[in-house]
Amino acid sequence: MKITRITVWNLDLPLSAPYRLSGGRLKFEQLDSTFVRIETDEGLSGWGEGCPWGESYLPAHGKGIRAGLAVLAPVLLGEDPCALDHINRLMDVTLPGQLYVKSALDVACWDLLGQAAGMPLWRLMGAHKAEPVAVNSSISTGTPEEMIALIQKASAKGYRVHSAKIGGSEPSADIDRIDAISAALPAGEKVTFDVNRAWTPGVAIQVLNTATARDWIEQPCENLDQCAQVAARVAQPIMLDECLQSFGDHLAAWNRGACEGVKVKPNRVGGLTKARQIRDFGVSVGWQMHVEDVGGSALADTAALHLAASTPDANRLASWLSHDHLAVDPVPAQGVRNQGGFAALPSAPGLGVTPDPDLLGASVAVYEA
Ligand code: MG
Repeated sequence: MKITRITVWNLDLPLSAPYRLSGGRLKFEQLDSTFVRIETDEGLSGWGEGCPWGESYLPAHGKGIRAGLAVLAPVLLGEDPCALDHINRLMDVTLPGQLYVKSALDVACWDLLGQAAGMPLWRLMGAHKAEPVAVNSSISTGTPEEMIALIQKASAKGYRVHSAKIGGSEPSADIDRIDAISAALPAGEKVTFDVNRAWTPGVAIQVLNTATARDWIEQPCENLDQCAQVAARVAQPIMLDECLQSFGDHLAAWNRGACEGVKVKPNRVGGLTKARQIRDFGVSVGWQMHVEDVGGSALADTAALHLAASTPDANRLASWLSHDHLAVDPVPAQGVRNQGGFAALPSAPGLGVTPDPDLLGASVAVYEA
């Protein structure tokens, strides 16, 4: 099988409500998403989506993806999309680093491999059956009362795991948030407090040694050095997210004892191929992992949840669904959807999500031999 054409669409995805992170210093109202279709000489087409969470969340932005595709797509024409390691090495030699640019192309190749093999991606990745995956809510920063009200709303939609966004300039406000939310959680429900890099190590150590709650704390500080310093001085288990991009970053986090779990996001680490390597490493060192994506429609969510579904129960925490926050749906009724706190994986070969190009508007680039 050979790649004959790569088509690119750009779609803005407005959020259904403004979303605040990191104590409110980061605000998001719309995502810039890039859809990629890879066509082949055997008539099969594969799809992928690249979507950072706005421009201020990660060192990644939508225009960067499309600029990177202009470099990578011509190089992939004529190559076999099922040779995923070869495809990834080619992308890494052509454009070192800049992992987020490569995810949509890698996912589209996985889609083609699955279609060629006649297997859904969850099976290709090693799951023996498609059990629904537990999904978690994401709670925007606010007062403890506002956040508890949002958690109750999410509980009513079936969510039993919540990611509460905290991290303010006033340490006492975060202590109040952590303890009030932990105390108000309905029996059987769980919460992670996601700081999104907002604290200095001193504030993190002060807050976490004063709060009585012992729930997961995610990405307390800007970088790995600071998070490792905090992890050594607090009782709560630490989850890392934004500061980890490459496999080497994950290895360094393990060597430093900086965390007990990580977020595995294909769009942050360079696609499903690299995300699977990181997931497998996480399993081998005993990490607990939320496997989900950075942002995007149900297409990006579905790609990530195929990997989640093939992750052992002991290492798998709930997965977040980005598309649940969108005011638009470019792949209506397709892919993973929250059904009472769980999402079922498609059983069709490949990714199992095929956008209708008419819903994506005019393409912004076509690469062909
Ligand atoms: Mg996070």
